[in-house]
Amino acid sequence: MAKARTTTTTLLLVAAALLVASCSAWEVNIRMPTSAADVDEAVVAPLIHALRPLLGSGKHAGVACDSWVLGVEAHNVRDWKTVPASCESYVGHYMLGSHFRRDSKIVIDQALAYVDSLKLAGNGKEVWVFDIDETTLSNLPYYAKHGFGATPFNATSFNAYVREGSAPALPETKRLYNKLRSVGIKPVFLTGRTEDQRAITVTNLRRQGISGWMNLLLKQPGFKGSAVTYKSGERQKLQDAGYVIVGNIGDQWSDILGAPERARTFKLPDPMYYIG
Ligand SMILES: [Mg+2]
Repeated sequence: MAKARTTTTTLLLVAAALLVASCSAWEVNIRMPTSAADVDEAVVAPLIHALRPLLGSGKHAGVACDSWVLGVEAHNVRDWKTVPASCESYVGHYMLGSHFRRDSKIVIDQALAYVDSLKLAGNGKEVWVFDIDETTLSNLPYYAKHGFGATPFNATSFNAYVREGSAPALPETKRLYNKLRSVGIKPVFLTGRTEDQRAITVTNLRRQGISGWMNLLLKQPGFKGSAVTYKSGERQKLQDAGYVIVGNIGDQWSDILGAPERARTFKLPDPMYYIG
């Protein structure tokens, strides 16, 4: 019995030593056992941290990139201009790998479940507001060549990309779009793109098999307000015209903040840029 206890104690001490050695990147707020008497009282360490080091998580100012992205998505990190340089690779892997698609699928699955729960009037007045960039169309082909948001935004080169009309549709959003049309909810595009980009935007959407929207609302020349002011103002106009906005989806918080918010809003992931 005594031998078994000694063996167990030795194993725990070795495990504790390994834990401390492997956890230099974070603080272990526990008292580690230093003797056989301590073992029974030692607080169990959060081994999950020891077993899952910061794999693939570059750092910026002491914050891991996955934590930075979470802060962005939760709207705790605001008004940022570029992705931290050390997170370019992390964001690139996130966007190009399966993670972004998985996160998007969760959002759309929730939106579809919400649509199924609605008691629709079917009077032709029920609409759903869609943002375009990084919501309906993806500019990932552009951002993949421009540091995934880690380099400062260049309006000239970005607008040249938009003029190609080649942005692919986001498959998950397209699933929601088609579902809404099938149940009689009319899609309304509300975008920060400007009126002079209307023709190429229509062309791009149609090339991607997207059609049948009720309205395409673009920013008019001379508008100087914030994105929230612009988009909430346009939603108010829709409501004043008798439409019922049953849902709203975008990749930016400025797509969904501001009255009238309506019953449900859905936020798609976008760690590449911030629009306030
Ligand atoms: Mg957008």
